[in-house]
Amino acid sequence: MKDTENLIVGLGIAGLNLCHQLEKAGRSFVVIDNCPSNSASLIAGGVYNPIGLKRKIKSWNIDQLTEVLAPTYREIEELLGIRFLNDDLPILKPISSAQELTEWTSAISEDRIAPYVTELSCEMPNGPFQPNVVGSVIIRHGGFLNMSDAIHSYRQRLMHKGLLWKHSFQHFDLVEDREKVVYNDISADRIIFCDGRYIASNPFFSWIPMKPTKGQMLTVRVTPFLSPERIYNQQFYMFPTSEKDVFRLGATYDWNDLN
Ligand SMILES: Cc1cc2nc3c(=O)[nH]c(=O)nc-3n(C[C@H](O)[C@H](O)[C@H](O)COP(=O)(O)OP(=O)(O)OC[C@H]3O[C@@H](n4cnc5c(N)ncnc54)[C@H](O)[C@@H]3O)c2cc1C
Repeated sequence: MKDTENLIVGLGIAGLNLCHQLEKAGRSFVVIDNCPSNSASLIAGGVYNPIGLKRKIKSWNIDQLTEVLAPTYREIEELLGIRFLNDDLPILKPISSAQELTEWTSAISEDRIAPYVTELSCEMPNGPFQPNVVGSVIIRHGGFLNMSDAIHSYRQRLMHKGLLWKHSFQHFDLVEDREKVVYNDISADRIIFCDGRYIASNPFFSWIPMKPTKGQMLTVRVTPFLSPERIYNQQFYMFPTSEKDVFRLGATYDWNDLN
């Protein structure tokens, strides 16, 4: 019987961050994940944007998150010996109407989105933008993570240490008593689910009103007008890859076709 403090189900971005914090705190854990080739974290754009574009407000807790984001992912990079964080990339957001221009102007003049956006331009930005574009803003302190590299590498690390069990967790095989949870030959003080959208079929959390959506991304070759040192957002995000003039574009939101 393997005894541990924490049994974790799921190794996407949530599970990975949890494991890292537990490891730093010197706590023991074992992870169960079915190691799919395709999960939200494996295909996500991984873009983070400090500003909610629709309402032109700061994203939730962004000032505090900005302070820990880069140091945390740099620590994980160091541990894994790979680079996956592309931080501090300006996000160029074209403004497509006079109404939107007014909304950005008020957000800036009322100091609601500083220090991320402090000025706007009323000129067409350089690039193949739609003809209705009347200006743009540059959002600072955004970026993106190549989560697929991070997760594949972290999986290898945990496998090496005997801390990752590639297996489909069966909820009804979990035995709970007052002190411990027991799953096959693992005994733990607690179980923590980092199972992403699968929470919808997790009997312990069936009360959560969860509505999944499907997302897809495209990898596209772009005109040389687009800078590899920028993220673009015009309806979709578009961000550079390591290949010249090749960007990733997305994501779609499909509420009905969940294949
Ligand atoms: C196309 C697309 C693009 C996206 N782009 C962005 C973006 O740019 N920025 C952004 O912030 N977010 C983006 N997202 C959203 C983001 O990907 C998710 O919010 C995030 O990855 C969820 O991470 P997670 O760790 O909670 O879940 P997941 O990544 O789904 O990980 C859960 C893990 O648990 C495992 N698991 C579940 N149940 C079991 C079980 N019973 N037994 C064993 N293993 C199990 C799964 O196989 C999986 O490995 C995007 C999503 C998609 C689909």
